[in-house]
Amino acid sequence: MNVDNEPLKTIGTIQGQDVMISGTKSFVINAPIANWFAVAGSLGDACAIFLIQKGSPGLTIGNRLNTLGFDAAAISGIDLVDCRIPRSQVIGPIDARKMPGRIRLWENQSLLGCCNGLMKAAYEEAKHHAKTHKSGGKPVIAYQEVGFKLSEMLTRLQASQLLAARTAGTMETNDSEAESLMWCAKVFCAEAAENVTGNALQILSGAGYISGNASERAYRCAKFCQIAGTSTEISRVKIGDAALGYS
Ligand SMILES: Cc1cc2nc3c(=O)[nH]c(=O)nc-3n(C[C@H](O)[C@H](O)[C@H](O)COP(=O)(O)OP(=O)(O)OC[C@H]3O[C@@H](n4cnc5c(N)ncnc54)[C@H](O)[C@@H]3O)c2cc1C
Repeated sequence: MNVDNEPLKTIGTIQGQDVMISGTKSFVINAPIANWFAVAGSLGDACAIFLIQKGSPGLTIGNRLNTLGFDAAAISGIDLVDCRIPRSQVIGPIDARKMPGRIRLWENQSLLGCCNGLMKAAYEEAKHHAKTHKSGGKPVIAYQEVGFKLSEMLTRLQASQLLAARTAGTMETNDSEAESLMWCAKVFCAEAAENVTGNALQILSGAGYISGNASERAYRCAKFCQIAGTSTEISRVKIGDAALGYS
């Protein structure tokens, strides 16, 4: 499942005008509702993207899975056993050294946006609550500990937004720093998201712990950002490797 450790185990084999594909993937976002699947795999010595239509023989879509967060995202596994598609539905061959890494960068980039959105929603709700909700006869923002928490949350949010914007800029210009900056941003923004959304929930307190508010929703979603794409552990390894000139 982890593409960094086991890249492209899905295999396509050319058979005349068709390609036969076999492979499995445990978690696929939108799988239960998608009409088309873009599956990355190997084709000979190269990589390719196989475009597979729902209903194709050999494609099995698993049951929708329950998750901690992102309640609206439909997620399931998919299995491909000798799934036959015409060669016209194959993008590639693509250089095997470049493709998985490039897709991961795009995925990580969209996750940075996700982190910032979660933080923004939770921060705004907590700020509003702190100004309007009274406890002990005064709005809770009047308690220094609550005000300081909001200050730290905003600092993390602002820093994350800046880092994400700088990363996007270097991606656009193919800057040599782009990859390593992306891993730095992934670590910082994803961990900031868990911290900020958790503190927002803490400011809402009892009201936050009851399901159905933005902070609670964002807190449940935030963990995904550290796991998906390049995990924060693997990102740290890659940052170190890049610093040592290994990548
Ligand atoms: C809800 C959900 C939806 C998903 N949707 C998709 C999707 O649509 N498409 C898709 O391709 N993938 C998807 N994924 C898969 C996701 O990319 C993987 O879960 C992720 O890559 C981590 O792999 P893993 O879960 O197998 O963890 P593991 O690889 O088992 O990792 C376990 C722990 O070990 C650490 N670890 C593993 N390898 C290393 C290493 N080399 N160095 C340092 N630490 C390491 C990890 O960081 C983690 O903390 C989804 C996952 C979830 C939870």
